[in-house]
This record gives sequence, structure tokens and C-alpha cells, in this order.
Amino acid sequence: MKLVDLFDCFLIDLDGVVYIGDSAVPGSVEAITYLLNNDKTVIFLTNNPRHNISEYSQKLKKIGIEGVSLNIITSATALASHIKDSFSDLKNKKAYVIGSEALKKEIELTGLNFVSGDEAKKADFVIFGGHPEFHYEEMKIATLAIANGAHFFATNRDMVYPTIEGHIPATGAMLASIEAASGKKAVSAGKPENMMFDIADSFHDYDKDKIVIIGDHLDTDIRGGKNAGISTILILSDPNIEDELKQSEIKPDYVIYDLRDLQKDISEIEKL
Ligand SMILES: [Mg+2]
Repeated sequence: MKLVDLFDCFLIDLDGVVYIGDSAVPGSVEAITYLLNNDKTVIFLTNNPRHNISEYSQKLKKIGIEGVSLNIITSATALASHIKDSFSDLKNKKAYVIGSEALKKEIELTGLNFVSGDEAKKADFVIFGGHPEFHYEEMKIATLAIANGAHFFATNRDMVYPTIEGHIPATGAMLASIEAASGKKAVSAGKPENMMFDIADSFHDYDKDKIVIIGDHLDTDIRGGKNAGISTILILSDPNIEDELKQSEIKPDYVIYDLRDLQKDISEIEKL
């Protein structure tokens, strides 16, 4: 039996699995096209809140992946829907939102009112996603608002983001400064937490043994899959991952080199 035949629903991480920068990871386009053409459910899960869903669809289309049934969940869309489900009367509450335009758009849809400057120091919510213009004033306002009792949320805790230059600082690295200053830990939406997996669940009716997550990071993708009680496949695209895998207590169910390996017989795949 081929590895691909074990599952009906594929939760697939984007960065490092489907593409790195603007280039497709070898074999990813063919593999995903196969899944889409063979009645498999494909849901992309990305911790990266920098782009909105239509930008991700465009990016996938550019490398050759398209289909009416493309499902994409970002840490920003997951966080917005969690806030909407967990709190009432959002129209009368104030939010200090730090992050990309895409994150702000998603949070805006919850009905929360955005505040800035002095008003933000008394905000009901501090919502954090990393962005390249992150600066001291944002750190300061967020810290003061949290000290004043604001609910503290973050899109994700990824410390670095893979680029062709190498790994660059991401949301988790910036978030750490506010957590250090405030002494409070944010509630995070991204993998390995359950929020994105719960939303993915609402897209289908499969039993957990038919669902697999494929990702390139142990701490987020594989740990998240384990927390969610589904199968896990680690893809060895990150240059440091083999060493990390040897030392980590997090063990994926299967390890593959790239998505083409989904077509291999299970006996040929490394099972941990
Ligand atoms: Mg990744």
C-alpha cells in the first residue's frame, strides 16, 4: 500500500513543504495536484499571518496549484474566528492590534474597535502578529495594556521564517519581547496549539485516523498533529532537521524527503 492511500484528509503546511520563497519545493505541485484529482481533502495550514487567503491562493496558483476546493487556514483567520466564538459584545470592545494588514483585516471582521496611542494603553485586547516594522513604541503600548488587564493573543510562536537568505526572525522572536516585559504569556493561535486544527475539523467529517498533517517543523507541525490526535509526516526540507529529529522527543509517524514520497510503498518509508 502506498503512503498516500492511508489517508483521506491532508493538512499541509505551506512554507518549507509546498514552497520556499516564491519557488515550489520539488515535487510539491505534482503531489498536491494528484491529491486534488483523487478525491482527497487538502487543507493548507500556515502559521504565517502576513498574507490573506486570496494572496495565498494567488501564490499557490503562480506555482501551479489551483482548484475550486483549495482550503487555506492562516493563524490570523484562526485567531479571528476564535475571538469571535469566545467573546461577546466585541463591537463595544477595544483592540490594540500589532501586525500585518492581513491580520488587521481579519480582526476588523470580528467587530472589535481598533485603538492606538494613549487609548491603546487601556485596550481590552492586545493582538500580536510579527511584522517587519515592529518597534519599541508598539512593545511599550502592548506591555502597558497587558498590565492594565487586556486579553493577550498572538498569531503564532514561530521564532524564525525560512527564506533563501536563511532563517530570519519571525513573530515568536518579537512576541518574546512583550512577554518578557509584561510577564504574561500570550494565547497563541498557530500550530502546535489546537485552534487551527479545530477549524480544519469543521471543514470535514473524517475520523482522526484518516487525517494526517505534513510539515517541516517538529515543534509546530508535528507537535500540533500529535496534540490533535492525528497522524504526522515530517518532510526533510530544512537543512538542520535531521539533527534536530535525532535529539527531539517529538517523533513523527513517517519521515519523507519531499511530497513525491507519498507515492512510495509504506515499506519503503522510514517509520519511527
Ligand atoms: Mg513550515
